[in-house]
Amino acid sequence: MLSRRWFLSCCLIVAGFLQATGSVEAALRAGASRKSIVPPFPTQMGGFHDRLTNFEGIHDELFARALVLDNGTTKLVFIGSDLMSVDAELTRLAREAITQATGIPAANIMISGTHNHSAPSYYQKTAMGQDDAEPSLKKFLAKQFADAAVEAASTAKPARAGFAAGSLVGATRNRQQKNDLIDPQVGVLRVEEIEGRKTIATLFNFAGHPVIIGSTNLMLSGEYPGAASRAVENLLGGVAIFTQGACGDITVNRNGDPFLEIERLGRTVAGEVIKTSGLIKLEEDLVLKAASTTLTLPALALPNLDDAKAALEKGKAALELAQQQKAIPTAISQLEDRNRVLSMTVLKAQAIAENPSKKETELPAEVQILQVGNVLFGTIPGELFVEYALELRSRVKQETGNSFCLVGYANGYLGYIVTPRAMETGGYEASVTRLAVQGGRMMTEAAIGLVHELGRN
Ligand SMILES: [Zn+2]
Repeated sequence: MLSRRWFLSCCLIVAGFLQATGSVEAALRAGASRKSIVPPFPTQMGGFHDRLTNFEGIHDELFARALVLDNGTTKLVFIGSDLMSVDAELTRLAREAITQATGIPAANIMISGTHNHSAPSYYQKTAMGQDDAEPSLKKFLAKQFADAAVEAASTAKPARAGFAAGSLVGATRNRQQKNDLIDPQVGVLRVEEIEGRKTIATLFNFAGHPVIIGSTNLMLSGEYPGAASRAVENLLGGVAIFTQGACGDITVNRNGDPFLEIERLGRTVAGEVIKTSGLIKLEEDLVLKAASTTLTLPALALPNLDDAKAALEKGKAALELAQQQKAIPTAISQLEDRNRVLSMTVLKAQAIAENPSKKETELPAEVQILQVGNVLFGTIPGELFVEYALELRSRVKQETGNSFCLVGYANGYLGYIVTPRAMETGGYEASVTRLAVQGGRMMTEAAIGLVHELGRN
């Protein structure tokens, strides 16, 4: 093995393919692991505002899945979990435990949720008077995340890895724009053992809201991302980690029994993952890099209660007039969307009038880029609209030649990150966003800034 490595290094030097740092990385080592994240105590289901009850059973197991890559100079950790989101505090707790056990710095650790709506919630829902369940769940989840990462690191073996992008059209649709703007990319990172070529991990990325199972369900489930991971693990072996893309405005097409539908869609996504996985060119020498920055984003500025009420009255009058004049259906539905935002603004302004400490002015947002060979994984802490991800992918390709996967719901959670167009036209996502409209642009430019920084290092 040593002489083979030496020979490879010489080839690289002769060919002039040395990295900017002037060092050739040692051979890749990789390990993967998964841990159950089904809470061993009663806790609330999350995902829907109208569901404030504890889970009653387990339809299918929930997992945190971890992949650790090590090229001798840099180690990266990818964690995917069957949760709706991971907030900044859970991210901090898990990273601290991982850094303590392995020495891997926080900026090299990505922690994400699949945006599974059939998972436990650690958000405070005071209607249940259940505030103490929240810290115990976070502590439990952070431990499972850390245990998965530490086990992955301690079982790392000589490996080869590579990335390719597949495409899946017909599984998703844009729910906000009523058009076909989706992200069909199925990004697949395959990692296999050199000895025997057994799969260590398949890390994949696809964009579509896991909302097939609705709010009346009280059974925990990994939803279609869990089913996709299961199907990939059954066929390829190893650990299959689903990372959610920019699905802020993307939902999945479904029809019929939700528990059968999650299996169908999971299999469909898995099929593309498995096909793509078989076409990947695997390498033993891979560049691994990480960069992270935390921005301070402006919160959505809210009018005072009187102004919010006046704007809603005006909006209602405009809708009534349009209905009387039999305006075209799209014009009426746009006014309805807009009024939904105005109604929500009244509720938010009311909450602040009653409790001024609820007013948000700034929100911290971590943006991170992890590079594995010729693919960059860019993380955003929330529900990014698809336009930003498509723009980032094309700019990364144009400026660096690398592939790009946007991982949403990672390292924090700020809710919906809408476009200026969506803010103007309204709709559900714009009505609940906490961020000022420039938030998405600021994070996109920060991600590009990190890509440039990695290119220089
Ligand atoms: Zn969502």
